[in-house]
Amino acid sequence: MSQAMGGVKPPESGGADEWRERVRQLTVLLEAVRSLHGEMDPERLPGLLTEEARRLAGAQGAVLYLLDRKAGRLTAQLGENPEAPRVSMSLEEGIAGLTARTGRAHIVSDAPADSRFSPALDRATGVPTASLVSVPVTNRRGEVLAVLQARNRTGGPFSVGDAEVLSALALQAASALENAQLYGQVRVHVERLSRLLEVGKAINAEMDLDALLALIVERATRLLQADRSSLFLVDREKKELWTKVAEGLATTEIRIPLGTGIAGTVAVSGETVNIADAYADARFNPEVDRKTGYRTRTILCLPMRDKAGDILGVFQVLNKREGVFGKEDEEVLSAVASQAAIALENARLYDDLKQAYDRIKQLDQAKSDFLANISHELRTPLTPVIGYMDMMASEALGPITEHQRKGLEVMQQSVDRMRHLVEDLLSFVRMEQRQLTLQAGPFEVGTFVAEVVASQRPKAQGKGLPLTVQVPDEPLLVKGDRGELVRVLAHLIDNAIKFTNKGEVTVSAAPVTTEGGRPAVEITVRDTGMGIPPGEEERIFQRFYQVDASSTRRYGGTGLGLAIVKEIVEAHGSRIVVETAPGKGSRFSFRLTLLRPAA
Ligand code: ADP
Repeated sequence: MSQAMGGVKPPESGGADEWRERVRQLTVLLEAVRSLHGEMDPERLPGLLTEEARRLAGAQGAVLYLLDRKAGRLTAQLGENPEAPRVSMSLEEGIAGLTARTGRAHIVSDAPADSRFSPALDRATGVPTASLVSVPVTNRRGEVLAVLQARNRTGGPFSVGDAEVLSALALQAASALENAQLYGQVRVHVERLSRLLEVGKAINAEMDLDALLALIVERATRLLQADRSSLFLVDREKKELWTKVAEGLATTEIRIPLGTGIAGTVAVSGETVNIADAYADARFNPEVDRKTGYRTRTILCLPMRDKAGDILGVFQVLNKREGVFGKEDEEVLSAVASQAAIALENARLYDDLKQAYDRIKQLDQAKSDFLANISHELRTPLTPVIGYMDMMASEALGPITEHQRKGLEVMQQSVDRMRHLVEDLLSFVRMEQRQLTLQAGPFEVGTFVAEVVASQRPKAQGKGLPLTVQVPDEPLLVKGDRGELVRVLAHLIDNAIKFTNKGEVTVSAAPVTTEGGRPAVEITVRDTGMGIPPGEEERIFQRFYQVDASSTRRYGGTGLGLAIVKEIVEAHGSRIVVETAPGKGSRFSFRLTLLRPAA
């Protein structure tokens, strides 16, 4: 006997047993509802639901058929494990199909005698069905999502009441199922995103172009569970696609004219091609298969675009391990393609940058070599010139006239300037080659300052600038490389005179105590000149830097002086400090370790 039933009806009889049973069922139902809504895992939900249905209906077993609306099929999973056997049937089959089609509950009291009954499930489980109750699981929009069945009631046939409580459970199950499905979809989505993110990270970390191509191809193959992938790049000049990496094949370069074959067509059209059976598709050229002995079944091919939307290359993925490439594969590959495009552009930029950098390094080396050679070459002829001029001035080569002496003095000054320039260049070269080694020893500060000031005095006099010295009366012994420090102080005084037109230049030395509490001597060169504009105080210590490069002609100089000064002072473990105010003047100072007042 079978009956279809619709809305809710009162218990068929008012017996005490019947009422007791209904109360039990309601309690079970309430519990079931609570546990159903607590279960979010779409894989565990069917098991939970069938167990509750079995308890609720007092049945031997229960089963849930999930409806695949697109395929028009109902599938029951026999067991919790996702690998468990499945029973699948069309909507035309069995009481389950009937329930799904009509959206109504059905009670069958003698299944084998009912012509609509399908024994498919019995065959799979090995348990014969005698009676059953079958209810649709329908969502709020009235769409059937699944069919829930309880089988073999212990102690008598299923009643309308059983069908009603199962329907009540099914109502709750619908929203739980939908939630779980939604949750499942979100989880799959999140997993996919995190896999993509990982791929993105790996791709972006690789800067070498060839290694990057290999990595992208390998990751795409794995993500899509395919057999092999190729990434073709567009060579616009030659109007070709080329690839170096093809997993499984040798890494020889393959070139394809744009517009031919599937990859070549995608490179031109920019449209995704997804082929389920290569040999049945006219666009497929079996030539490569014939050469390599490979058998292409499925192909997914899509373009890779750069930021501007231009096609950079084409991704081609072959032979999905199971089935055919779906919409999801297209989405995943297109996400990989856009990551890959960015990484490729970066790798290319990096490549260009690296080449430019290598070129600059070569040029820089060439410049250093040139400077090293030229400064040696310039110094060699200077030595005899200076020697002979000195001899002439001291009349060792015969008497000279007053006019000749004046001329000789001008020549001596110029040669002296030239010697300084050459020495600056040599120091710079030594600095670049990290060859600056100090020969530090004790020396007395007062005589040191006096000596350097004396050498600079003619320049100050030439400009009519007073050049004053302030040193303590008692002698002070400091530690340092006297020869190098002479150049430091000489250069600071030279700059002070050069950039001061009125006022004065003062050179002083005074004992101080460092922040660390150690005794030191501070040497200062102060001027009342043009000063240094704000923001330039650091830069003047850079090689070749001049605040006003156009003033070079007016003031002379190479822009190397302060770089050398800084290097030498820092090699002494000290620091060069500048305080300045534009239009008011500058103060350059550095400190040297005070050994003790000299006796
Ligand atoms: P240069 O050979 O040009 O003097 P430096 O390295 O010694 O090279 O100095 C760099 C730049 O710092 C100078 O060109 C100048 O612009 C600025 N400068 C250095 N010393 C002074 C100073 N005492 N007053 C004003 N400007 C200065």
